[in-house]
Amino acid sequence: MISIGIAIMAIISIIIIVGDNDSKQDISLQEEKPAKLRVVASFYPLYEFSKNVAGDKAEVSTFIPNGIEPHDWEPTTNDILNLKESDIFVYNGAGMEPFVDKLIDSGEYNNVKFVETTKGINLIQTNDEHQKEPDDHIVYNPHVWLDPILAKHQVMMIKDAMVDADPDKKGGYEDNANAYGDKLDELNSKIQTELSNCKKDTFMPFHDAYSYFANQYRLKTFPLSGISPESEVTATDLREFVDFIQKNEIKTIYSEEMVDPKLATTLAEEANAQVLIFSPLEGLTDKEMMDGSTYLDKMSENVQNLKIGLEC
Ligand SMILES: [Zn+2]
Repeated sequence: MISIGIAIMAIISIIIIVGDNDSKQDISLQEEKPAKLRVVASFYPLYEFSKNVAGDKAEVSTFIPNGIEPHDWEPTTNDILNLKESDIFVYNGAGMEPFVDKLIDSGEYNNVKFVETTKGINLIQTNDEHQKEPDDHIVYNPHVWLDPILAKHQVMMIKDAMVDADPDKKGGYEDNANAYGDKLDELNSKIQTELSNCKKDTFMPFHDAYSYFANQYRLKTFPLSGISPESEVTATDLREFVDFIQKNEIKTIYSEEMVDPKLATTLAEEANAQVLIFSPLEGLTDKEMMDGSTYLDKMSENVQNLKIGLEC
């Protein structure tokens, strides 16, 4: 009996030793292959820019689900908890993601690096009467990503954050960011050329998303709605919009892929104009996602539609 007992003890010790070795092997395997940098980008253009900087060197996901209008979107408790697993959170700032300040202030996300990509950009203050804010509250227009030059600034902010968090892959992030930056420069030159000889200088979009774009190309914009597509539109706004179309013989007004086109269509009919899309790039439709549409593709489509309205 004693010898059986000893044998059993011996077997148990062997199992323990083998088990111990196995777990050591697992740990050493994990050490050899470190996890990639985890980057979460708040909404579509930031996701697209982050993906282009990351290439295959980091994992990028989007925080605000695609297909949802990002203005005034609020995360759920679950969304916020998942964020704890990430290394970098890329956001626009300028009031586009009001939930971010609360996350930072909570102190629960100190391991996450928050990257405000509009930092360093001269923001346009809006005197948006659609916005119900107290008089002393400054509201900025957040739509910098529609200007390719400012988009490049955002790309470089993302690159700096990735290099800082993952210095071993510095060269890769820099090459990717520079290559994408060159494409944004090309887009800028293309827009300048395409819009260099137009009869009109004012376009009429659905919401006030195009101030930076208009400034870059010396254009004017007369939006129907405020800095969010859900801003309230009054009867006076509608009348002024239609009056402007008729007075300036505007033949094309613009709607967006993520809002109901009914209002724009009704106004266009009343003013004898047509409706085209000028995308604010705040998200892609499911079909566009499936087709692999990019920021650069969509901006080129925008310019083609804009040329029709500006009569270039
Ligand atoms: Zn917007």
